[in-house]
Amino acid sequence: MSPFFSGRRRAAAAAAAGSAVLTLIAGCSSTGSGSAARPSGSPSASSTPSAATGTPHPGKGESAPDAAAYRRWGLERPPAAPPAPPAKKITDGMRDGDAPKIVRRIPTQDKVVFLTFDDGAEKDPQFVRMAKDLKLPFTMFLTDSVAHTGQGYGYFEQLRDAPGGGVRNGVDNHTIDHPNLRTLSAEAQKKEICTQQETLQKRFGERPALFRPPYGNYNDATLAAARACGVRAVVLWEATMQINDMRYAEGDGLRPGDIVLAHFRGPQELKGTTMTQMVTNMLRSIERQGYTVGRLEDYL
Ligand SMILES: [Zn+2]
Repeated sequence: MSPFFSGRRRAAAAAAAGSAVLTLIAGCSSTGSGSAARPSGSPSASSTPSAATGTPHPGKGESAPDAAAYRRWGLERPPAAPPAPPAKKITDGMRDGDAPKIVRRIPTQDKVVFLTFDDGAEKDPQFVRMAKDLKLPFTMFLTDSVAHTGQGYGYFEQLRDAPGGGVRNGVDNHTIDHPNLRTLSAEAQKKEICTQQETLQKRFGERPALFRPPYGNYNDATLAAARACGVRAVVLWEATMQINDMRYAEGDGLRPGDIVLAHFRGPQELKGTTMTQMVTNMLRSIERQGYTVGRLEDYL
């Protein structure tokens, strides 16, 4: 059984989305970190993921990543199994043309958090190996102007399919050019959001349900544009991954249902730390705080 995908089914209605938290940690820009702890998380040369596991992805159902996979990526043990997702998602029952939900946290009492990765400039192949190895659930919010460069959307397709067994990670909308939408006209906002909806639908065969405004900045025109192009939920965040640890919108630790913002970043942006080392640091902190990682799409 996979720690990330198993768990007893439980009928629990999802409460209304959103909390009244007004503070929002700036996204998509800061990389500073208060901690000087040495990051880790690279697989050692003698146990690279492919060499050590041969074919680590059985591909059917919800097979578990083995404990050795976690150790390879600098993690002591697999995380606790996530709770069973609720019977009813926050967006269930929405009709075409309904205003999108605004979601900063998932309403739950369970010690589960949700990972999101933004923008898409850095395309570290090691992160694909890590995501496959750990069958890591996360949601990607992609900005076309950076996501399409280099290996392009093919890279994110690999990450979408990383869990294996037909389980997919979310590929969602983060505009075309990453503007501060509050500075744009309603028409320009619609172009930023709807064009990226079209681009992602064409590339991945599915219209994104989720949208994240760059920097978390939006206004009424943003919501109207998102609604017009089929967005079900505007997803914000409560915790932001830096290099070694997270910063929190409230308090000094994770809370149940927190959505964690991270970015596709490499050593240049992370002061020498790699993407996978940053993710290892994030998973360690989540585990240390007694939390596990859930799949946002199971709730939203
Ligand atoms: Zn961004």
